[in-house]
Amino acid sequence: MGLTSSSTGFGANEKDIILNPENQGKLIALAGNPNVGKSSIFNALTGLKQHTGNWAGKTVANACGSFIYKGEKFTLADIPGTYSLYTCSKEEEAARNFICFSGCDAAIVVCDASCLERNLNLVFQIKEVVPKTIICINLIDEAEKKGIVVNSHLLEKLLNVPVVLTSAVKGIGLEELKERLLNEVYKTETAEQEIIYSQELADAIILTEEIIKPKINKNINLKWLSLKFIEGEKSMLNAISDFLGFDLSKDEELKLLVLQLRKDLTQSFNKASVSDITISQIIKKAEKTARLVVSYKKSDYNTKQYKIDKILTGKYTGIPIMLMLLAVIFWITIKGANYPSALLSNMFSALELKLWSFFEYINMPEFLTDFFILGIYKVVSWVIAVMLPPMAIFFPLFTLLEDLGYLPRIAFNLDKCFKCCSACGKQSLTMAMGFGCNAAGVVGCRIIDSPRERLIAIITNSMVPCNGRFPTLIAIITMFFVSVGAADSSFVSTVILTMVILFGILMTFFTSKLLSLTILKGVPSNFTLELPPYRKPQIAKLIVRSVLDRTLFVLARAVIAAVPAGAIIFLLANICYNDIALLYYVSNFLDPFAKLIGLDGVILMAFILGLPANEIVMPIILMAYLSEGGLRDYQSIEELKCILLNNGWTWLTAACTMIFSLMHWPCSTTLMTIKKETKSFKWTLISFLVPTVLGCIICFIITCASKIFQFVF
Ligand code: GDP
Repeated sequence: MGLTSSSTGFGANEKDIILNPENQGKLIALAGNPNVGKSSIFNALTGLKQHTGNWAGKTVANACGSFIYKGEKFTLADIPGTYSLYTCSKEEEAARNFICFSGCDAAIVVCDASCLERNLNLVFQIKEVVPKTIICINLIDEAEKKGIVVNSHLLEKLLNVPVVLTSAVKGIGLEELKERLLNEVYKTETAEQEIIYSQELADAIILTEEIIKPKINKNINLKWLSLKFIEGEKSMLNAISDFLGFDLSKDEELKLLVLQLRKDLTQSFNKASVSDITISQIIKKAEKTARLVVSYKKSDYNTKQYKIDKILTGKYTGIPIMLMLLAVIFWITIKGANYPSALLSNMFSALELKLWSFFEYINMPEFLTDFFILGIYKVVSWVIAVMLPPMAIFFPLFTLLEDLGYLPRIAFNLDKCFKCCSACGKQSLTMAMGFGCNAAGVVGCRIIDSPRERLIAIITNSMVPCNGRFPTLIAIITMFFVSVGAADSSFVSTVILTMVILFGILMTFFTSKLLSLTILKGVPSNFTLELPPYRKPQIAKLIVRSVLDRTLFVLARAVIAAVPAGAIIFLLANICYNDIALLYYVSNFLDPFAKLIGLDGVILMAFILGLPANEIVMPIILMAYLSEGGLRDYQSIEELKCILLNNGWTWLTAACTMIFSLMHWPCSTTLMTIKKETKSFKWTLISFLVPTVLGCIICFIITCASKIFQFVF
């Protein structure tokens, strides 16, 4: 089809839209404010599974999908949510450029029925540049519950564009939306543009249009283009130059005229800039329209949410509740994962016996049998048995919080802490995404407007452990810091894991402050964060989405990385030079430095080999020890502990391995994502070095302190 779909969900693998005009049919932009149900409408129309979630900013890249209605093909582009075409952040710029310059045949502007006025601002702006605009007023089920009624017929009459009421999750109005879209797209005459600006501005637009008209041979609304030249906003002018293929703003005649117009307009509007004037006129128009078409049956429609928010974002209650929720999620994950993990592990052991017999039956050479079973099979089965259960529990729980609308409340609670570190509160949203996958967290940093704060968020994102690192942390905690089998073991594990995560969050604050005092100096910017309404999650969709999109995606990535890593470690352990295994040389070479930071050569080597995926660090460590030590099987956590103890592990090794797991280089996927997002080798290198150096320093300090303690006592 020539089209690709991308999402910013966990493990997102962002691809750019590759449009293929030959078979795309009609290109439709699906625009709207964040969190109004664009992706839900997109999924309902195309049958695709674009990531949805109850918070502003989750869609940061475009996604494309198509559908056929009455024999006509439509290609729908789900673009990032934006409040206005007067943009601030990168993702808003992406949305603006698509609406203004993609040459789309029509735009569907999705609006939230509960707050139409704010949504209409964008409708007016889009209507100016895309003549065939359809308004889709979504979330009518929610509005109905709140007693909010939207008179769609009146709105249609006032704005002279089709208006459809929908509920994406209940499937209401979708057929009508397709029908109206079909009619609109194939309509030959376009509606007369109504004037929403003052007479002075309208006259200025006409004067500018006369000058630019003969100079432009592309299909674009000249009135809108004229207004943009009068406003003179730099990023918009650059985008226009890219679209036209030349810089029209340098044209002398045009330059002189717009300078004069700008001066006159600014004077007659009390020194306000032209864009301020246009924005305020659009806002007034939206206000007036909303007043006419929206009516309220209940006056207290927001009180329940207000009361809940008072507790969840309260000064004294917000952060403790947040930590408790985090701990509860970890507890359910740890407790719930034990049994299925053991079950999977037994299943793999039984299968392993069968594999041994099978290879013997087909007379497979011994070396190859060992290579496949001890080298590859064991690592892969470890990765699946240890990772799959916690992920299959953690992701749905996390998605539940996301769908309820809790994530922006976390950002709200942590905003002050980030401000103190001269960073941005939205960073906590990107950290939350990092819990699933740091690469997704890095892409999510596009929601941060200030480039300085975005870089801080990118560099520090890997300090929250991604799902690949949870199993390592949980395994070490269970082995070394909890008495195995004790009644309260999962409770103690949860407390320790929460403390480790807290340490990661504190280090994020510390590093953000450090960066903003040194290489990324600056003052924190202000931002408006929308607290979305609490919404009832759709459980079935939530499970499918979190298991298919997130769990299996991350697991597949881990398995793919585990196969070559297992093979390499097996070969290193079994290929000898001077009767000594190569593995021994490598770990011996790394050993002196590793010892300084409380690790050993094998652990450090495992972290290096784990660059493609962090989840394989623990199995590599075990494989390396097993091939050296001769112990061949591990059935239980006690046996695993035995292997580690036999290889010199102490609680210090365990603590340093956990800290190093929390703070070392990001995995290769994350590094590649950072390179793509920052377009800079320098910042990619800094993102590699900062957590690594800090991790080494902390482990070094702990090692020294422990040595001193041992010496003194
Ligand atoms: P986007 O940011 O505009 O793409 O919004 P999403 O499609 O991700 O939806 C935001 C949230 O609203 C999600 O939790 C959806 O499940 C929910 N949602 C979307 N459409 C509707 C609707 O019509 N009714 C209700 N009740 N919830 C909806």
